[in-house]
Amino acid sequence: MQELEKLLRPHILQLKPYTSARDEYEGNEAVFLDANENPFGSATKAAFNRYPDPYQKNVKQKIATIKNVPKEQIFLGNGSDEAIDLLFRAFCKPEQEQAIITPPTYGMYEVSAALNQVNIVKVPLDENYQLNVAGIQAAMSEKTKLLFLCSPNNPTGNALKREDMITLLKSFNGITIIDEAYIDYCPEKSLLPLLAEFPGMVVIQTLSKAWGMAAIRLGMAFAHPFIIRILNKIKPPYNISGATQELAWEALQNEDKKNAAVAATWQERTKLIAALQQLDVVEKVFPSDSNFLLVQVKKAQEVFEYLLQEKVIVRNRASVPECAGCLRITVGTPEENRILLEKLKKWESGPK
Ligand SMILES: *Cc1c(COP(=O)(O)O)cnc(C)c1O
Repeated sequence: MQELEKLLRPHILQLKPYTSARDEYEGNEAVFLDANENPFGSATKAAFNRYPDPYQKNVKQKIATIKNVPKEQIFLGNGSDEAIDLLFRAFCKPEQEQAIITPPTYGMYEVSAALNQVNIVKVPLDENYQLNVAGIQAAMSEKTKLLFLCSPNNPTGNALKREDMITLLKSFNGITIIDEAYIDYCPEKSLLPLLAEFPGMVVIQTLSKAWGMAAIRLGMAFAHPFIIRILNKIKPPYNISGATQELAWEALQNEDKKNAAVAATWQERTKLIAALQQLDVVEKVFPSDSNFLLVQVKKAQEVFEYLLQEKVIVRNRASVPECAGCLRITVGTPEENRILLEKLKKWESGPK
């Protein structure tokens, strides 16, 4: 606690947050003349005329049950990216302090760092896309406030080794962010059950992937109550819209739907890996714990452009230094995967 407080940028501790009209009264039955809302209703059929709950109690209650985490240890963001940005703002002095990332990894860490004028130190993953633990430890200094570990990692698809992440959690005095956006595809690999052991750990998850709710923008951060209080203090007051809260709550009622989608993805992933490995254009399919595959192909740039022209959109990672010749391909429905494979076969048989 004391330790966490010392990590914060001092002015954040002093900051007096905005108090919203609705902070004063809890309850639904009252005459609300405090927030300059339109009492006659909305321009839509459904009613959205009242400001939403700034702390999203109902949604958090549901998440607390599903994840088995106390609600005081849950923060909700307008996408995971909001939580990432707030962590930079809370902990890193611009132009002075730094964060460690392990490329190839999720691009948002670097963008968010740049936006906040925070220096990034890169310690690349090894040839198996696993952590260089000694290298990361050597890169840590007094100035290192954040360490980003993405597991399963985007764009490589694999989960990081649990022992390595734990070694780093034990040796790093700053905030370690474990980005588990794809954890629903390998739930047994989550570090969330270790939350109580590591006060400096922030686990990030999202409704955007397995839950199929990318459009509503709901990211979750799980951490020590002190960190959650800080994130709540510095977030925009109504960062999660009422529409998002309602739809998130509905989605969270249907965990079985999410599980069925995950099972379907596993099944399709196995089939897709086997089919891709049969193709001459494919050099390597990297192991995946997620809902996408990193695939090394011959003439990646040309294959990418050809697929684009055939209206099959994949992610071109060929220019990422550690992913030379690679495309990142999301596991689709059986029909989508069939089309992808058909186009790749057509490419192989066509003139080059
Ligand atoms: C997709 C993804 C996210 C999720 O971002 P949202 O803002 O919650 O949609 C976070 N981290 C990684 C590594 C991702 O690939």
